[in-house]
Amino acid sequence: MMKTSKLLTIGLSITGVGVFMSGCGAAEQADPSSDNSHTEETIKVVTTFYPMYDFTKNVTQDLAEVSLLLPAGTEVHDFEPSAKDVAEIQEADVFIYNSEEMETWVPSLLDTIDLTEVLVIDASEGIALIENEAVEEHHDSDHEHAVHEHDHEEEHGHTIDPHIWLDPVLAQEEVNTIKAGLIEADPENEENYEVNADTYNQKLEALNQEYKEAFKEAENRTFVTQHAAFAYLAQQYDLNQVAIAGLSSEEEPSPAKLAELSQLVDQEGMEYIYFEDNSSSKIAETLANEVGVELALLSPLEGVSQADQDAGVDYIKVMKNNLESLKKSIR
Ligand SMILES: [Zn+2]
Repeated sequence: MMKTSKLLTIGLSITGVGVFMSGCGAAEQADPSSDNSHTEETIKVVTTFYPMYDFTKNVTQDLAEVSLLLPAGTEVHDFEPSAKDVAEIQEADVFIYNSEEMETWVPSLLDTIDLTEVLVIDASEGIALIENEAVEEHHDSDHEHAVHEHDHEEEHGHTIDPHIWLDPVLAQEEVNTIKAGLIEADPENEENYEVNADTYNQKLEALNQEYKEAFKEAENRTFVTQHAAFAYLAQQYDLNQVAIAGLSSEEEPSPAKLAELSQLVDQEGMEYIYFEDNSSSKIAETLANEVGVELALLSPLEGVSQADQDAGVDYIKVMKNNLESLKKSIR
């Protein structure tokens, strides 16, 4: 189950790193006259899903070859690696994942591969994980949940909430853990990784300040979401996430679900319900007519399409969109 790993204290030594900043362009160490004796090899890094990829890319920049195992559109919570995926991880120098609660296939993967060949980074190491009482989207029937209530067998995963990356503060901790692993795998580039991580964490900290500022004086602190992915974010900014299990962006909600929603909306005076995708207008219409709410987009960042990435969409951009979207309720 969970490791009780100690918090890494790396990252505390970053102060004063600014001195390196002006030297960025001059960081190239290779001496062109000696390239016969030593060929500079870039390390290969495999990351699981989008935020792990983006965090890692920001730390390595061009110093490593970083790949993304789960392409956009893959359902991260249900993913199982293929033989080809396992081979790709085995061939890498570094493998980076978020947590065993998200990438539930990692423990059995680690039993399969030769760990002397690849450095494995658990980006959530040292972070206190939230125990989830909410019903996850997997057991979509309330009846089934009731049956399991007094059951001690909790093997369906996600009783521990894995959505750490959606908190801009914990994201910085993940960046530091990723950085420490990269330095271990590629000590020659230590200074660059330190500088890059510090630069990126400053952006994440600015994002954190934006969230803090936006919600500081909000009177309504509750928001309703389809995907229970925002508990860490809610915890960070003293918000209250109400997650509606079994509410899908593809299927029209059942009458029972609509009744439940109506009640919630009345109780909380909600005007918006957050979905993770741009929902079809039919579902939006149903909710608007039956319950009297509008839909808004809140991305759990479990995938960013290649087209969006090419257009410059990244973690920070999506988180800023999420902030604008949340401001509709939290105000
Ligand atoms: Zn999720």
